[in-house]
Amino acid sequence: MNLCDIETIRAVLGRHGFHFSKSLGQNFLTDASVPRRIAEQSGAAETGCVVEVGPGMGCLTDELCRRAARVVAVELDRALLPVLAETLSEHDNYEIVQGDVLALDLAALCREKFGEERAVACANLPYYITTPAITALLESRAFTRITVMVQREVAQRICAQPGTAAYSAFTIYVQYHAAAKILFDVPADCFVPRPKVDSAVLQLTPLEQPAVQTKDEKLFFALVRAAFNMRRKTLVNALGPVLGSEMDKETIAGLVCSVGLDARVRGERLSLMDFARLADAAADRLKGV
Ligand code: SAM
Repeated sequence: MNLCDIETIRAVLGRHGFHFSKSLGQNFLTDASVPRRIAEQSGAAETGCVVEVGPGMGCLTDELCRRAARVVAVELDRALLPVLAETLSEHDNYEIVQGDVLALDLAALCREKFGEERAVACANLPYYITTPAITALLESRAFTRITVMVQREVAQRICAQPGTAAYSAFTIYVQYHAAAKILFDVPADCFVPRPKVDSAVLQLTPLEQPAVQTKDEKLFFALVRAAFNMRRKTLVNALGPVLGSEMDKETIAGLVCSVGLDARVRGERLSLMDFARLADAAADRLKGV
């Protein structure tokens, strides 16, 4: 069965009386090359154990089952369970976990299902949970590779370079934890129903150690958030809400200059390394070193 063929999708979903839910981000793939390419590049064949988020009617799950030893797919919509039982009937190496991926302990799920084996994660993510889902996948530390389809702008934001409009606090968060790259773009007409935006397949390879070392990770991210909360302001002004109770503006400016930055620089120009140096200098100053 070609699970991306539009007539097949209509027939199967019709048989089960299924209706797409916009609020659950249900846009199913209609181009069979897309789930095939995601599965091929996901590491499923090498790692053997896969967690998929949001199998829908199973087009990506099917491709993963052909390559991996075991696939655990987390689907929130109960109405899709009988659909998946039909579409995946030729496979016996998968399990559907009905639930909200954001409410699950993904590390515990992997331990329970795969023991000590390393796993990869895969998804055509529902748009409305993109950021928390990526955060949960990274924070679980359970995956050696995460391959997810997201809105193209989000993929570009995650892979952005300093000084560009797309560069954001979330860019820094993701790049702190993982190497990020866009594998390929997927136009909006590859889905039913057709979404308003184009998509891209993003691959994250979690790092053994964070991309930069900092003395105080909490302070590092507090400075990053402050810099991007007021990205039109100079860094010195933007840091006021975080450092202002301990330091006057001149001291903050001195701190910025002490790590080789211009006092008039905006936070959006700083690399991860710049933020790390600044956070370390601020940590030393706060401790009175
Ligand atoms: N994988 C299918 C495909 O590519 O055609 C469907 C992808 S569709 C964009 C997203 C899927 O995620 C839907 O099946 C939806 O029901 C499911 N979903 C939505 N929110 C979820 C959540 N919080 N946890 C788990 N699955 C969710």
